[in-house]
Amino acid sequence: MSEAEARPSNFIRQIIDKDLASGTHTTVHTRFPPEPNGYLHIGHAKSICLNFGIAQDYQGQCNLRFDDTNPEKEDVEYVESIKSDVEWLGFEWAGDICYSSNYFDKLHDYAVELIEKGLAYVEELTPEQIREHRGTLTAPGKESPYRDRSVEENLTLFKKMREGGFKEGEACLRAKIDMSSSFMVMRDPVLYRVRFAHHHQTGDKWCIYPMYDFTHCISDALEGITHSLCTLEFQDNRRLYDWVLDNITIETQPRQYEFSRLNLEYTVMSKRKLIQLVSENLVSGWDDPRMPTISGLRRRGFTPASIREFCKRIGVTKQENMIEFGSLESCIRDDLNENAPRAMAVLDPIKLVIENFGEEETLTVANHPNKPEMGTREVPFTREVFIERDDFREDANKKYKRLVLGKEVRLRGAYVIKAERIEKDDEGNITTIFCSYDADTLGKNPADGRKVKGVIHWVSASKGVEAEIRLYDRLFTVPNPAAESDFTQVINPTSLEVLNGVVEPSLSSALAEQGFQFERTGYFCVDSKDSTSDKLVFNRTVGLRDTWAKIAG
Ligand code: ATP
Ligand code: MG
Repeated sequence: MSEAEARPSNFIRQIIDKDLASGTHTTVHTRFPPEPNGYLHIGHAKSICLNFGIAQDYQGQCNLRFDDTNPEKEDVEYVESIKSDVEWLGFEWAGDICYSSNYFDKLHDYAVELIEKGLAYVEELTPEQIREHRGTLTAPGKESPYRDRSVEENLTLFKKMREGGFKEGEACLRAKIDMSSSFMVMRDPVLYRVRFAHHHQTGDKWCIYPMYDFTHCISDALEGITHSLCTLEFQDNRRLYDWVLDNITIETQPRQYEFSRLNLEYTVMSKRKLIQLVSENLVSGWDDPRMPTISGLRRRGFTPASIREFCKRIGVTKQENMIEFGSLESCIRDDLNENAPRAMAVLDPIKLVIENFGEEETLTVANHPNKPEMGTREVPFTREVFIERDDFREDANKKYKRLVLGKEVRLRGAYVIKAERIEKDDEGNITTIFCSYDADTLGKNPADGRKVKGVIHWVSASKGVEAEIRLYDRLFTVPNPAAESDFTQVINPTSLEVLNGVVEPSLSSALAEQGFQFERTGYFCVDSKDSTSDKLVFNRTVGLRDTWAKIAG
């Protein structure tokens, strides 16, 4: 990790510093525990940067552990996408990939241990009845009539559960803790349930599956995790986390610490909602460039460094918060402004003919205005070029620093031209602008000292390459779509606009995902899925400036 990416401290790092100073721990071992039931999103990136970042900075280790206790909702497609997203973000997990399902045998034995200690029992109330018995935040729960079964009976029934003797919902294993606890999670939580489901890792070996709260703490302990970092909604679950580990025979004692989730304006982050967007075809897939997924941001043109930088800027606290979408955009803008080569592309072309220009010329243009080390490229200049329709006016005041009929402007990296006359179609639309050029203005001001202020970009009409240009905007029209009764009703109908543009020929060899600043129009990248050598497709990553801030401010 470079100096530039050195991470600022936070309350979790302070805890670790103290643990290392006091000798409570000699090394740091964290884990990132996604459930393989969806693609990773920018919120997960916060957790990834925290967990893997701490391991890097303290010369410790971070495991990638699939928290796979819900076979019906999980899939290897998600396992694969998660691995590739973590690697793409620039992180390396310690040793082999871990799966909670690796520990199903051990988890089963720990459940038996709890039964033997009189700390767990087989419940035969229905899920509905269990819910009724649980009580509320203000009323205590009611003990189950099955709570005081003997150890022998419980062992027999748990074995029967494991052997498929109960249907789903007929029986489950519960911890025997306290039905009047002020923490709902401590009211005899379910530890195991019956599910006749095929598991993507363990196949049909099991028909009982352990619950998250039972699995997570034991997995942490088995892997020697020292600091188990999760989001605030698990604060109460910490009681259960500690209770399980205190009551089984296991050596290490990991500690759980909670931080606030990332919420981002104009975005939904719950996997249930993201799955809905995909399954109802409201977006083109998990990697639709408007999705807040890592794969969507990647396809949109975000770089791993820009996402890490974002996670650094937002920090880690216990305060609930909502981050402006512009903060994410400014991270990629800063990165691309510094690192992306420049190129010329015309998004809404209109033809311009330079009548006194004869031969084709090859111009040499810098790839970056302040980075000569990024080199130059050749750009063909021809008698006919395209400019943006919006860069020409028949008539305009002085504020308009582009091409006006009868006036001059500079074509970027080329000559000063003057608009002499125009041609229109039957409906009055301009079809062609006829110009003259001053041959003595390549790379220098006009000899007679006259000032030409405006500079516009252009692309050779005969040598330029047609390209589909996809302009992406925020997916939602309101800052907090999750607060709507139906978030699909506030999808931004203009979040994708497709244009037929033309780009300079050097771009035809651009690689998938490669990012550019198209002069004067924004930052774009080659679409990794749809762009081919026959049909280039560019995605707008972000505009040159934050236009939303202007609108809002
Ligand atoms: P959902 O609640 O939508 O199903 P999840 O939080 O359960 O998502 P997991 O796959 O379990 O998703 O998450 C893996 C890790 O990433 C967890 O430690 C979780 O706390 C963390 N995480 C998930 N979303 C965010 C977020 N928005 N901000 C920070 N961390 C997050
Ligand atoms: Mg989860």
